[in-house]
Amino acid sequence: MAAEQHFARHSQLASAVLIKAFESRNFEAHYCADSKAALELALSLIPQGTSVTWGGSETVRTIGLIDAVKAGNYEAVDRDEAKDVDGRIALMRRAFSCDWFLMSANAMTEDGQLVNIDGNGNRVAALTFGPKNVLVIAGMNKLCKTLDDAIARARNYAAPVNCLRVYAGKDAKTPCQYTGLCADCKSEQCICNTIAVTRRSSTKGRIKVILVGEPLGY
Ligand code: SF4
Repeated sequence: MAAEQHFARHSQLASAVLIKAFESRNFEAHYCADSKAALELALSLIPQGTSVTWGGSETVRTIGLIDAVKAGNYEAVDRDEAKDVDGRIALMRRAFSCDWFLMSANAMTEDGQLVNIDGNGNRVAALTFGPKNVLVIAGMNKLCKTLDDAIARARNYAAPVNCLRVYAGKDAKTPCQYTGLCADCKSEQCICNTIAVTRRSSTKGRIKVILVGEPLGY
């Protein structure tokens, strides 16, 4: 059996446990075997005509959801279409009154908690309060045993890789730009300013999680 098949089998089995754990915390949770199924499910959950925006997420982009929203019958709020910094910030604020916010997670625990690290904080702010619905799409590669493991994954793996992505081709001086490793920096360009643990959806079903049985994102 190929490595991908072992991963898929593991994901399928573990997702059944994970869905129950998320549901015990007021999250709505689903499992899809692959990106194609996750895209179809996401689009079936988001009613046409609603306003949709997103935080920085390699996963959401990779499965084709951003392209589908922009091409579909939705009011897509895309900060990357802003003409200047002020316009970008205005669109980031607009996210808080949108119907849907799309994102992934930097890590999740076996007992159903989400861990995310943000530079600006707009993503974790929207996850916590504002948009009527938050849709989290996460590859099962983000699964960690404990909360400590999840925070360690977010800090020591997801954050340095994201930092390399965010500052690709730019003159950034965070330690992880040079070593690929987190040095717990306090630099001006640090992207790790807020660490959020979401241990429960305060409104039942507001935060929806689609688990995907293939590695996605960082
Ligand atoms: S070195 Fe700084 S910017 Fe890089 S991952 Fe660590 S805290 Fe974040």
